[in-house]
Amino acid sequence: MSAADTAGVCSRCQQPIAGFAPPCDGVTAGYYLASAFPRYANEGDVYICDACMWRDPLYILDHGRIGND
Ligand SMILES: [Zn+2]
Repeated sequence: MSAADTAGVCSRCQQPIAGFAPPCDGVTAGYYLASAFPRYANEGDVYICDACMWRDPLYILDHGRIGND
């Protein structure tokens, strides 16, 4: 798989990332650059979409959950 094939695709759910628009400095609305967030990235992660990041146990621990439930 070439770099072009994985550009804009979430490394975890393999879904295209909406609004993917590199270059970025690590975070935009919609996705996270794994190399900029080593605390949350798993080995092999390149991009992490917003939905996957919000399912990451460590991320939830640090930032809480969406909503007020
Ligand atoms: Zn994802």
